[in-house]
Amino acid sequence: MKTAEQVAREVRSGATTAMAELNAALSAVRERNEELNVFLHVDEKGARAAASRIDERVARGEAVGPLAGVPVALKDNLCQNGVPTTCSSRILEGWRPPYNATVVDRLLAAGAVPVGKTNLDEFAMGSSTENSAFGPTKNPLNPSRVPGGSSGGSAAAVAADMTPIAIGSDTGGSIRQPAALCGLVGVKPSYGLVSRYGLIAFASSLDQIGPLTKTVMDAAIVLEAIAGHDPMDSTSLPEPAPSLVAHVESGVVGKRIALVRELVDGADPDVVASVDQAVAALREAGATVVELSIPEFRLGLSAYYLIAPAEASSNLARFDGVRYGLRVKRDDVTAMMEATRTAGFGAEVKRRIMLGTYALSAGYFDAYYGQALKVRTRMIEAFARAYRQVDMLIGATTPSVAFEFGSKTSDPMAMYLSDVFTIPTNLSGEAAISVPFGTGEAGLPIGVQLLGPGRSEALLLAGARVLEIADGRP
Ligand code: GLN
Repeated sequence: MKTAEQVAREVRSGATTAMAELNAALSAVRERNEELNVFLHVDEKGARAAASRIDERVARGEAVGPLAGVPVALKDNLCQNGVPTTCSSRILEGWRPPYNATVVDRLLAAGAVPVGKTNLDEFAMGSSTENSAFGPTKNPLNPSRVPGGSSGGSAAAVAADMTPIAIGSDTGGSIRQPAALCGLVGVKPSYGLVSRYGLIAFASSLDQIGPLTKTVMDAAIVLEAIAGHDPMDSTSLPEPAPSLVAHVESGVVGKRIALVRELVDGADPDVVASVDQAVAALREAGATVVELSIPEFRLGLSAYYLIAPAEASSNLARFDGVRYGLRVKRDDVTAMMEATRTAGFGAEVKRRIMLGTYALSAGYFDAYYGQALKVRTRMIEAFARAYRQVDMLIGATTPSVAFEFGSKTSDPMAMYLSDVFTIPTNLSGEAAISVPFGTGEAGLPIGVQLLGPGRSEALLLAGARVLEIADGRP
């Protein structure tokens, strides 16, 4: 399948049309969606309208954007005006947002064509899409394996060649982990770089929206199109989108990189081997690589599983049967809310709401939530110390390649451990990228992770590009 860069170039030159590219995407969806369960909703009408608008503008000789005519898949926790948005939860069944997320508006302004909404773990809580109320998504590279999560549908859309690019959200790893498991590039941008307006909140201080793509260049193009200040998000950085595309080929000559022991410890041997080979490739390309231990990283998982559920328990309070989606009728309002939330939320979401409510309750606030915030501060300081010594960090994205369905569903802790390497960056609010590098068990892809300080996306993309070339994708 063509990259987004190629599609947009050909649409602009008239070598293809947005409608032809959309037709190709729609037929790929028709061919495999039933088997893989990637899209929860395909907005054929809206997509055709967007595609013909692009084609008309090309015909009139008007400038069309960097994503002209590129079909894009949207994770179903992003609001799109008039299009069903479920967060893969029964509780939002039937709800249609009356507005677009800022990211959706920016994609449209860049010429992209939103094709539909992709499956996820309910409210983005999970690492395999097995927590979706609408059934799991299968990994297109091996349908007996999970695609990762929570942006599993978005990753699968790109891996199955349905759309060249997709958008996901990353609270604890939900872009990078499925990218790794599906052989894609995934970026978790610095907190505040991409507007969260219209992203249905899971944990507001951790959530970030970002791209899943086949190439590093496509990730740069998408991120540049969706980043930049938005007055609708009070946590949005007060500056325009950074220039990223121009830096993709900058290389790593003279860059200092640290291989972090805590970002490989416990990973499968084939994953560790890939990280070692990536380190060798970066050295070969002119970087200096040292080894570093950041013991604070070991505390990330426990802090995250207090902070994220605490914020979720508050964010999800709005789903009460009054304002959105599902309502189970009862005689009085309390009984109605209880019945609606009992029927509407799945088991993992309920577990998180209970954990979060407990952590925030008066008698336990200091012992749990307060402690977790202190750990978060220590994490931020540990990253800052590391970035005084080096420009970026390297490690694995996930401990293993894509795992079998059901292999972790009975043990929440085993599932939570899938994100042990990705969570630290969410807590610090800094940037990270996962790039495919090598293969492991059953020939499945391995993701290597590069981490950098806030606003270091250009540097990380350049580093990822070096690895992409070294892995044989010139
Ligand atoms: N897997 C992690 C969780 O379940 C991260 C999810 C995410 O990043 N949205 O919370």
